[in-house]
Amino acid sequence: MTSDKGLLIVLSGPSGVGKGTVRKEIFDDPATTFEYSISMTTRDRREGEVDGVDYFFKSKEEFERLIEEDKFIEHANYVGNYYGTPVDYVVETMEKGYDVFLEIEVEGAKQVREKFPEALFIFLAPPNLTQLEERLVGRGTDSPEVIKKRISEAKRELKLMNLYDYVVINDDVRAAKNRVQCIVEASHMKRARV
Ligand code: 5GP
Repeated sequence: MTSDKGLLIVLSGPSGVGKGTVRKEIFDDPATTFEYSISMTTRDRREGEVDGVDYFFKSKEEFERLIEEDKFIEHANYVGNYYGTPVDYVVETMEKGYDVFLEIEVEGAKQVREKFPEALFIFLAPPNLTQLEERLVGRGTDSPEVIKKRISEAKRELKLMNLYDYVVINDDVRAAKNRVQCIVEASHMKRARV
């Protein structure tokens, strides 16, 4: 029997691995059939980011009120800021039969696994740690202190990859996008057989 409900797809991995870039590549591809869940965050808006497109930017007070009201599937405090996935959008979209894609850090992914064990968990990994450090520095969006924090987080996070259904190495953005799409397609076929 095929489930009518959409699939929840979780792409996670250390900061700086290129999750955002792979996600953009996925959603720039007209062949992509799944929906992106825009996260909420309390971090400052970076140049070029648009509220309601990249994130829903919230104050700390607003975010904490939403936590109290149980409005998140998961939320995490990452390098001093809150990030969270809004529950209503995700549940309603899946109920309509659409797949929903989350791009989140590993602590949040752990929480999703507890609530949605049937979700598809994909870990995006760097080809090596040096490249990850270079990418965080080269991005130029964070202070040296924040970069240092993100790198130490990343080292801890890399140890968690064995808990995921699949690991995708981000050695090339286009290739990583293709791998994610193939994994989603294969998961659909598997679900259709059950
Ligand atoms: P950035 O500040 O670079 O946009 O994101 C920092 C980290 O937060 C990234 O690893 C990103 O994947 C993660 N992130 C973005 N949205 C969410 C979310 O809704 N929940 C969680 N747990 N992490 C998120």
